[in-house]
Amino acid sequence: MPAAAERGTVKFYEATEDTSLGYTGNLDAVHRWGLPGVQPCPTCRAGGGSPSLAYPCVDLCSLPESELKRLSNPWPVPREESARLIELIRPFAPSWAVLKPGAQFGPRTGSGSGRFGPLFMQNSWSLYLRREALEQLQAAGIRGLQGCPLSVRFRGKNPPELLELQLELHGRFHPSCLPPDRKPPCPTCGNDRLKVPEPIVLDAASLPDSVDVFRMTDAWTVILVTERFVEAVQRLGLDGVTFRELETR
Ligand SMILES: [Zn+2]
Repeated sequence: MPAAAERGTVKFYEATEDTSLGYTGNLDAVHRWGLPGVQPCPTCRAGGGSPSLAYPCVDLCSLPESELKRLSNPWPVPREESARLIELIRPFAPSWAVLKPGAQFGPRTGSGSGRFGPLFMQNSWSLYLRREALEQLQAAGIRGLQGCPLSVRFRGKNPPELLELQLELHGRFHPSCLPPDRKPPCPTCGNDRLKVPEPIVLDAASLPDSVDVFRMTDAWTVILVTERFVEAVQRLGLDGVTFRELETR
């Protein structure tokens, strides 16, 4: 159990899959739409996209068929086309959404099998809750729980009703965990060539007090939760996910 807050500071944790419990749940499902990758930058050669930035509650159904086709093909496109597609999607996305090449939208679609815990992660950047667990956590006052339905066919009896969380972005690296000799961002595309440091130290001033679960602004593959979230999960006896405390400065 995490200790109570010290000196009024909230503790923050990284959520990761708990492989010790024997759950066998597996999803073979991708989001319905995604921004394509981008062709390499002429200056730094960085290109492609990051599918870890996901907005599963965003519905793009009302876009023209020809555009949806473009949003179903990850093949890299020129920077101008990428910018055009981002502006096409923006009205459908939450106002706080960060829209970048590779970002994913809509329900995960495909198939699922095995036994799922109340909380479920298959990779570090997607967090799923069974509906009962989501409702229990909401009733416990946990904030930031926007559950989005999946479009997944489950094999076997008693299929779980899993929801994928759509997460706000908060939280920056504290400079002390970054390499001292890092280069400035690319002047053409803004790429900062930062790898996720190990261990991460969080910049206290960048952490939210409005939500208890969120995606890290500086590392889209990292999902962070507050001490309140961890305590509620443990009090309710929910499992499937484990939490590692991160240092905050
Ligand atoms: Zn560049």
